[in-house]
Amino acid sequence: MKRIVVLGSSFGGLTAAFDLKRFLGKDAAITVVSDDDRFVFLPSLPWLIMGHRRPEDITLKAADILKPRGIDFLHEAAVRVEPEASKVFTAAGESGNESEIPYDYLVISTGPSLAFDEIPGLGPDKGHTNCTFTLDHAVNTHAAWKKILEDPGPVVVGSSQGVSCFGPSYELAYEMDAELRRRNMRHRVPLIYLTSEPYLGHMGVGGLGNSKRFFEDTFAEREIKCMVNQAIEEIAPGEVRLKDGTKLPFKFAMIAPPFKGVPAVAPLGNPRGFIPVDKQYRHTRYKNIFVVGVAVAIAPPEPTPVPTGVPKTGFMTVKMAKTAAAVIKAEVKNETPPSPGELNVVCIMDMGNTAALMKGDPVLPPRRKSVTKKGAQYKALKIAFERYFLFKMKHGFSNLP
Ligand SMILES: Cc1cc2nc3c(=O)[nH]c(=O)nc-3n(C[C@H](O)[C@H](O)[C@H](O)COP(=O)(O)OP(=O)(O)OC[C@H]3O[C@@H](n4cnc5c(N)ncnc54)[C@H](O)[C@@H]3O)c2cc1C
Repeated sequence: MKRIVVLGSSFGGLTAAFDLKRFLGKDAAITVVSDDDRFVFLPSLPWLIMGHRRPEDITLKAADILKPRGIDFLHEAAVRVEPEASKVFTAAGESGNESEIPYDYLVISTGPSLAFDEIPGLGPDKGHTNCTFTLDHAVNTHAAWKKILEDPGPVVVGSSQGVSCFGPSYELAYEMDAELRRRNMRHRVPLIYLTSEPYLGHMGVGGLGNSKRFFEDTFAEREIKCMVNQAIEEIAPGEVRLKDGTKLPFKFAMIAPPFKGVPAVAPLGNPRGFIPVDKQYRHTRYKNIFVVGVAVAIAPPEPTPVPTGVPKTGFMTVKMAKTAAAVIKAEVKNETPPSPGELNVVCIMDMGNTAALMKGDPVLPPRRKSVTKKGAQYKALKIAFERYFLFKMKHGFSNLP
């Protein structure tokens, strides 16, 4: 029986674990190890910030969905991997005592580490800005947003240097604009979208179809001021200070931090801690380690004056996890491994009163097809996708499209 350890209980970790169990049944003992005992549908965090979702609407207990499917769950944080010995070390409980977990295969889907400390004053814990990247941050950001509705003032939303997930900041800029207009308060809230992207709609992937013009036009229509190609020097209370000397006052700021790899697995990766893989998502050096999702290193399609990273969306993460699981299965069963398809991306961006569909095939240019287009029907599709994905994860139906 093969011992398979999966790190992370989110898009990548759960998909890989469910697929592996379905493929290998009693031939594999699968353990998911995660420092969070929940699966959180992160794409709905902007809705939670705006008050349209509660944490319980978008959260599942990892143990409740894994254990009935014969998959073990350990609510522990991995602290390091010893790839030569094929062991993961975890810290558990208040004592923080380490325990070791040997594996035949390791699947890493630990996502990003949010590097607030790289910009003085950034972040909700030790700094002065809000964030949308974790459930706990989003809950606090919702409280801060409610205060702005009671006592309006300047808002700055956007992404610092080194970010590789731009979509949520765009969504929040549109959603805040729409909500303020609905309340007839928009004229009391100057709204700035601040970004490290070289132009609007770059998104870390060199744009998608006409995304540059799309974002320029829709921001202009809504009077959302944009500042592109910007790096942040520091955040003082109520003021973003840019490297070019510009100072932006704010009453509410929600700024995405630089991304790095999670410390426990970062030594397996590049200087930023993202891990290099081949087309099957196998580590380029350690053949029994697979890496999927945000933890993977993907080189940017073009250098940008201010560093930006390539986003690895939930859609892409699920595809990576399915490929990795199919390759492991083929190896265990002595079958020919499937040839991995090219990664493409489909994303729906909420815009408050409407939504946009963004597609790129493949993810990075040059592409066969790339589209950014607006339509109210995409909003309905986004809501349906949230319900569908939570249903899939709740019941372990990772085989559904
Ligand atoms: C606000 C927001 C909106 C988004 N919107 C969209 C969207 O509309 N469409 C889309 O396709 N994608 C969207 N994404 C991206 C999508 O959520 C990510 O691509 C996806 O979550 C990546 O999954 P992952 O498994 O790689 O990592 P993550 O989701 O980051 O999960 C990492 C997992 O690893 C665990 N972990 C971390 N460190 C350790 C450790 N040391 N030991 C054990 N476990 C650990 C964590 O607890 C977590 O379970 C959005 C993301 C955010 C934050």
